[in-house]
Amino acid sequence: MYDVVIIGAGPAGLSAAIACRESDLKVLVIDEFPKPGGRLLGQLHQEPNGEWWNGIKETQNLLDQAEKLHTEITCGVSAHHIEKTEHGYMIHTNIGVLDTTNLLIATGAAETAVPIPGWTLPGVMSIGAAQVMTNVHRVRVGNKGVVVGVNVLSAAIARELQIAGIELHSMALPISNPVTKNHANPRHVMDGLVRIAHLAPSAFLRFGSKFAKSAWVRNIAVNFYPKSGVKMWGMPIHIRKAIVQINGTEKVESVTMCDITSDGEIIAGSEKIIDVDFVCIAGGLYPLAELASVIGCPFQYVEELGGHIPIHNEQMETPLNGLYVAGNITGIESAKVARAQGTLAGYSIAKNIDKIQQAMKDVKSTRDSASIQFHPDIVEGRERIHRSFQTYEKAQ
Ligand SMILES: Cc1cc2nc3c(=O)[nH]c(=O)nc-3n(C[C@H](O)[C@H](O)[C@H](O)COP(=O)(O)OP(=O)(O)OC[C@H]3O[C@@H](n4cnc5c(N)ncnc54)[C@H](O)[C@@H]3O)c2cc1C
Repeated sequence: MYDVVIIGAGPAGLSAAIACRESDLKVLVIDEFPKPGGRLLGQLHQEPNGEWWNGIKETQNLLDQAEKLHTEITCGVSAHHIEKTEHGYMIHTNIGVLDTTNLLIATGAAETAVPIPGWTLPGVMSIGAAQVMTNVHRVRVGNKGVVVGVNVLSAAIARELQIAGIELHSMALPISNPVTKNHANPRHVMDGLVRIAHLAPSAFLRFGSKFAKSAWVRNIAVNFYPKSGVKMWGMPIHIRKAIVQINGTEKVESVTMCDITSDGEIIAGSEKIIDVDFVCIAGGLYPLAELASVIGCPFQYVEELGGHIPIHNEQMETPLNGLYVAGNITGIESAKVARAQGTLAGYSIAKNIDKIQQAMKDVKSTRDSASIQFHPDIVEGRERIHRSFQTYEKAQ
């Protein structure tokens, strides 16, 4: 019987384990991936202050701290079912059933699939798969590719592929269909571009993005967006072009790119064939929260946090006794926020009253200074979910 089992050895799960071990709780961290670190392992980007964020080093820092505290971490273990018991939780895994008083679910996020014609050809992958192959497994994903989907994650990973010496023709939107919706709408995508422009290497772009904070400037920017795209790190980012088809017989050979109107409609006769041997599709992220729903944790849909979120309070407790959540399962944010939330969840589980208040402040300050923001209005989304927790508690 463990005091706490943590599902997910990403930055949230590892930080929580460290905080729990400081209070000498009996902790087990499990993860289905062969190595601990979660999505942190694949991250490599330059912060606006010029410093590099190297996920492998950050993971090692967490593992060193965990090891000093004799934390039990087991990889290659997948949780597929959870039961609530009188004393806590029973977690069903591929190595058997684990008993615990407290459970922290820190399973992170998954990528939203964006179907476009030809997407089942070998050589088409999600942008996250390209990140893992390049930065974790050191596998070259191809020689020359295109990124379909313009958002904060695809921009960050496109840069990582470039650093690894992989040529990218450009980034463009997906063809508009009932699934791609906002991802295929230049006006919506422009709102997101403004949030990543501060990472741009060019001072001109960073300066320009300040003006683009008002809606009418963004509107003009969409209408007069340059035909050749706006270059970031030498790579054109197109929001008035869409990939309508991925072509090939045995594998990816080319893509068909079209000009689109500011509402995402294809402009007839504008098709161009671009030779590429791989395609990365970026449809955004949503919280991976199925395990919380299996035990009956209540959920709320919060657009600003990226999807359906297990209801929880500011201290990462859910309405179910002994069940906690931390990291991207509570909303899509950067790894630094996930790490701060993990520490907070760990102190909450350990009932370390002295440290909880400071950990809550750390989550807020990390969020305020985050260089990568996946969704606008994160703070409002957080407040909504915390209010739901209070309403839920009162109703019980
Ligand atoms: C593809 C992708 C790329 C990203 N790139 C960036 C980036 O470049 N920069 C950035 O700041 N953020 C990025 N993020 C956001 C990222 O998720 C956070 O930065 C951070 O890693 C979240 O930490 P976490 O601990 O909540 O989850 P994760 O780091 O995702 O860790 C969750 C862990 O849970 C494990 N797990 C899930 N389900 C189970 C199960 N049923 N049983 C056992 N183990 C399970 C997974 O294997 C994983 O190791 C990315 C997210 C994704 C999905």
